[in-house]
Amino acid sequence: MQQLGRKPVSSLKIYLRLLSYLRPMVGLFAISLVGFVVFASSQPLLAAVLKYFVDGLTLPSGSTFHDIPLVGKLDLAYGVPLLLVLIVVWQGIGSFLGNYYLARVSLGLINDLRRALFESLLHLPNAYFDHHNSGHLISRIAYNVTMVTGAATDAIKVFIREGLSVVFLFGYLLWMNWKLTLVMLAILPIIGVMASGASRKFRKQSRKIQSAMGDLTHIASETIQGYRVVRSFGGENYETQRFKTSSEVNTRKQLRMAKIAATFTPALQLVTFSSMSVLLLLVLLLRGNQTAGDLVAYITAAGMLPKPIRQLSEISATIQKGLAGAESIFAQLDEAPETDNGRVEHDRVSGRIEVRNLSFNYQGSEQNVLDDVSFTIEPGQMVALVGRSGSGKSTLASLIPRFYHHWQGQILIDGTDVEDYTLRNLRSHIALVTQQTSLFNDTVANNIAYGDLAGTPRPDIEKAAEAAYAREFIDQLPAGYDTLVGENGVLLSGGQRQRLAIARAILKDAPILILDEATSSLDTESERHIQNALDQVVANRTTLVIAHRLSTIEKADFIMVMDQGRIVERGTHAELLALNNHYASLHAMQFNDAGVSEDAAEPDPALAQESFTRLK
Ligand code: ATP
Ligand code: MG
Repeated sequence: MQQLGRKPVSSLKIYLRLLSYLRPMVGLFAISLVGFVVFASSQPLLAAVLKYFVDGLTLPSGSTFHDIPLVGKLDLAYGVPLLLVLIVVWQGIGSFLGNYYLARVSLGLINDLRRALFESLLHLPNAYFDHHNSGHLISRIAYNVTMVTGAATDAIKVFIREGLSVVFLFGYLLWMNWKLTLVMLAILPIIGVMASGASRKFRKQSRKIQSAMGDLTHIASETIQGYRVVRSFGGENYETQRFKTSSEVNTRKQLRMAKIAATFTPALQLVTFSSMSVLLLLVLLLRGNQTAGDLVAYITAAGMLPKPIRQLSEISATIQKGLAGAESIFAQLDEAPETDNGRVEHDRVSGRIEVRNLSFNYQGSEQNVLDDVSFTIEPGQMVALVGRSGSGKSTLASLIPRFYHHWQGQILIDGTDVEDYTLRNLRSHIALVTQQTSLFNDTVANNIAYGDLAGTPRPDIEKAAEAAYAREFIDQLPAGYDTLVGENGVLLSGGQRQRLAIARAILKDAPILILDEATSSLDTESERHIQNALDQVVANRTTLVIAHRLSTIEKADFIMVMDQGRIVERGTHAELLALNNHYASLHAMQFNDAGVSEDAAEPDPALAQESFTRLK
């Protein structure tokens, strides 16, 4: 029973760690422990009452509890029913104390674990999210945590309550007839061996079920989020098939688990009842001078043993399951959070960005996404970053607020390496609008004033919205700034979502503004307005715009052209046009986009393809 899976030591470690969460609740735990002791002590008492019942049957009427101190004078006829009720009341009190206080402990544990998991999500590095799908992360919070309840509540409850019942019953048996009991003891190891046999299988199986659950959640959430794509591209069959396979795999695994449990229990029953029949034989042979009441009580107590023993043997499965859940929970909790070793904090930086020989590759890939990139942006400058898809523009943007850790080269803000800032301080200097806008299922106003900005006075929010050219559509929403935008802003158009994201960045009023294709899904009219707004916002801050719209680019102080992770050209619009190379061909493409000609001379088919995609 104590053998917890393949690696007993590490399982024990996991369990001890799980239990260490209970330390603050040790008082409640003690109360429940007392409750279970009370409960367990009632078990042999119930058997003992039978002795007096049978004695009452066989002895002449009017006999008393002659061998018990306090109630020695009590008539058996009245005493037995009275005692029975009292014992059950005693048992009930124990049961309540035990169950209720242990539930408080374990629900507290669940609460702690859930919150710790969520907290860790907020501090895990970006790369963690790239390599773990959200279905698994969510199912860990929703499902694994409840499995841990099994190990924490059920297992401890059974272990203490049934364990003590076994101890008390055994004590009683030894006291009644130790010879008989020692013989019986010889049978116990057989039960023990059987019990430990299945535990290994349980653990393995339950880990598989967990990952199958994660797959299910993952597929479902992908289909839910991407339902438009699923429908418009006729993905129904594919998704149905995918879900069917995954669901069936899950069912099969659950079934196999049920099968192990189902064969295990009757097999154990067979063993216990065979031993019972051996016991009956022994009782008849070794009865000595004991009364019928003694023997009935003995057999009853012995008969009460298999149930707690069986339950004890089953807790190994519960513990295995709980441990499998706890293992993955602890694995996440043990993940190193974003490195945040910097100490520098500035109230406000001037916004000078200097990048020196920066090279970067994503975890798990050898390919350099950025290759020896160097540039300097002076405070207040507006710089455009252009280049074809996949050239590394977004990657470069995400390294400035340290979303990923780079090993080669340096990024300096106001002369201080970004690694030397505290993460929070560094990010407070940067307002970032990413390619994928993220909105929360909250009001328009709360989406603009999010995080540190929460609680910003309404007029400021309105000003930011106006600057982002969002006011025009917000005023038309049913509840204005108090309209709920739906999950990730589904109730808004792409351009509207983008404008809210820009408004959020404007409201942040950070010295460094990074816009990653922030104006890509705006129509020309809105874009022109945004452009005017941006002209004002960029005025006194450093701005890095990743863009493909000419109007944005032409105003830039200088333009950097990226290709395959390198900056291949830099200069003003006019200078780069004169070079007649990368930028010039990108520029020519823009004219194509504007609708001059579909099949004008194409220096680079990949570029053409990209522009075409963007035009859509
Ligand atoms: P686009 O114009 O399409 O937005 P981009 O210039 O912004 O392109 P990046 O997003 O920086 O391009 O991607 C550069 C390269 O890095 C691509 O080859 C891409 O496959 C890879 N890449 C991007 N994000 C990740 C990631 N999280 N993990 C691994 N590789 C990534
Ligand atoms: Mg990008």
